[in-house]
Amino acid sequence: MALLRRLRTSSLLLRFGVLSLLLTLGVGALLSTVLSRSITERAREQAEWTVISTVRLGLQPQLHPYDLTNGFDPDRLDRVQRAVRAAEDNLDEGGAFDDLDPVALKIFDADGEVVWADDHRLIGQRSESDELAAALRGHVVSGFTTGTDDAVEDPDGGRLLEVYVPIRYEGWPEPSGVMELYLPYAPVEAAIAEDVRTLTLVLAGSLAVFYGAVFDLVARASRRLRRQTEALRISADRNRHQAMHDALTGLPNRVLLRDRTEQALTAAARSAGEVAVLLVDLDRFKEINDTLGHSYGDELICQIGPRIRSVLREGDTVARLGGDEFAVLLPTVDGAAEARVVAERLRAALHRRFAVQDVALDVEASIGIALSPWHGTDPEELLRSADIAMYEAKEVKAGAVLFAPEVHVAGPSRLTVLGDLRAALESRDELFLHFQPKVTLDGTRVEGAEALLRWRQPDRGNVPPAEFVPVAEGTGIIIDLTERVLGLALGQLREWSDEGLAVPVAVNLSARCLLDASLPDRVARLLRAHGVPAGLLRLEVTESAVMSDVARCTDVLQRLHDLGVSLSIDDFGTGYSSMVHLRRLPVDELKVDRSFVLGMTTSSADAVLVRTAVDLGHNLGLTVVAEGVEDEEHVAALRALGCDLAQGYHFARPMAAEALTALLREARAGTGRALPVSAAGPVAV
Ligand code: C2E
Ligand code: MG
Ligand code: MG
Repeated sequence: MALLRRLRTSSLLLRFGVLSLLLTLGVGALLSTVLSRSITERAREQAEWTVISTVRLGLQPQLHPYDLTNGFDPDRLDRVQRAVRAAEDNLDEGGAFDDLDPVALKIFDADGEVVWADDHRLIGQRSESDELAAALRGHVVSGFTTGTDDAVEDPDGGRLLEVYVPIRYEGWPEPSGVMELYLPYAPVEAAIAEDVRTLTLVLAGSLAVFYGAVFDLVARASRRLRRQTEALRISADRNRHQAMHDALTGLPNRVLLRDRTEQALTAAARSAGEVAVLLVDLDRFKEINDTLGHSYGDELICQIGPRIRSVLREGDTVARLGGDEFAVLLPTVDGAAEARVVAERLRAALHRRFAVQDVALDVEASIGIALSPWHGTDPEELLRSADIAMYEAKEVKAGAVLFAPEVHVAGPSRLTVLGDLRAALESRDELFLHFQPKVTLDGTRVEGAEALLRWRQPDRGNVPPAEFVPVAEGTGIIIDLTERVLGLALGQLREWSDEGLAVPVAVNLSARCLLDASLPDRVARLLRAHGVPAGLLRLEVTESAVMSDVARCTDVLQRLHDLGVSLSIDDFGTGYSSMVHLRRLPVDELKVDRSFVLGMTTSSADAVLVRTAVDLGHNLGLTVVAEGVEDEEHVAALRALGCDLAQGYHFARPMAAEALTALLREARAGTGRALPVSAAGPVAV
């Protein structure tokens, strides 16, 4: 029992080894028993046959049926004696057995009386034994005798084989008599023992070889299986690790971060604690990549994780979300103040100089902080809030910014706006464009138009861009929105082109779009899809959007420019772009922000700024457009400054595509009047 219990807990191979050994031994024992029995039986039969053939061939021909009925005369007796001697010698040679020397011989007549015996005293005696009776009926009968029943003993004291052989003569229906022989069984037993020994040896040898071969086979298979299982386990571990970790840095990836945030949120909900997610984005990382090469960039990224880790606690998580974006999860944090302290520690750690392949690198980071449950109750929402705060930090160069719903969310229902916007993107007609012409200052020529997005929300009516564009900019939805605007604008451009009315159309791009490296490819695809030449598309980007990450934006802008798309700096004057950057950007138009244009006739500071902007634009070889031109006075002042184009309510409000089509048709037909058109002109939304 104990062995069985032990076996159950031991290795599979050992279990197989023991069980198969027991089975093999069992089979061996069974086979050996069956075969030994059959050997014994065969040996006895063989002994019987030796006797029968000796009697039939050697003795019987010497006897005459009358000998058995009338008795032997001395002469015949002598011949029988000699035949018996010969037969005994014959048996003695043994055939299959050594020394099968008969111990005694008797010849009975048909009445069961001994007519001859080598012990002459027995002659004349009568036997009533069953064996004799059976033999007289014609059966060969054999059996063992211990010598007591027949008073015949083996001189060596062993068992005797007693064989009764009927003596039959042709023409006689019944046996004429019976010959009884007592043979020593020892020679037969010796032959049996010899055969059984040989059999046992062969059987044991074969079973041992069989068992060894099977065990070896199974042991090999088991070893291979174990190796394969081990390899599979290692590869499964590796896959699990890869699915959860960033390949370059080995840090947890977004998936693992989400898991851990989920756990932290569950734990925090139980203890009414707070969880903080910090989104860390390196500033100007692209410059490093571009100027030093990707190997430097990669090495720097690899050094960031340990640097961040060095200022965190044991249970905090650092994850890499991609590119130069990292996230830190603080599963237990004591309010916003502590999260800010950690953010500042992080910034300080990252500001310490990095040594990458002997090059000293200074890195700055923008950090967005979001705190549960205030800024999100699930990992996605927390990350999104941290993301919005991080973009704010980048845009205003504030270092670390804590997500502030009242600032970052337009209106009380940012989530409602987002949901509605998603629905609008699904619908066909909630989102559409108005176009505002850009005209020469004398109002005679429409040189282009700006596409402005309009949203007619089924429940709330027209929603101004100022209410929904910033919300969309806080999430990835601005990318889809921009794609929709580009599609609508290019579709309209295609219609105008087909009618020979095409003027360049400008589309606004948000900072997020500029940081998206796939934008140029998507623009190229849309241009191809609509069959519009790139020269008819203009993209407007604000100064501050470009300045959030000059290197990355410049790269995207350059690739757009290479496509043949024209670029404008929008709202010029509101940001703090350096001359150096402005000179390097592949732009060809500068739009002076309407706040300065509106104020230029009343504020000398604004007037100076507009003059400076116009001069700067011209010096850089750019076309200068004044936005927000609302009256004749502005027009006069701008003319005096040599401004090239104007856009504003004075000339035309943003209008539906059909209205601009009408204007363009009039202009082509030469029937158009100079703008501003009459009061019945286009209506602003
Ligand atoms: P923006 O690109 O500077 O567009 C010009 C804005 O000035 C438009 O406001 C236009 O209606 C307004 N405007 C034009 N002339 C005058 C004027 O004489 N006086 C005054 N006071 N305003 C004038 P709108 O359409 O409300 O758009 C506001 C802003 O929303 C745009 O400023 C732009 O930044 C953003 N926006 C509009 N459409 C899109 C878009 O498709 N994508 C993105 N990313 N932003 C958009
Ligand atoms: Mg614009
Ligand atoms: Mg503008």
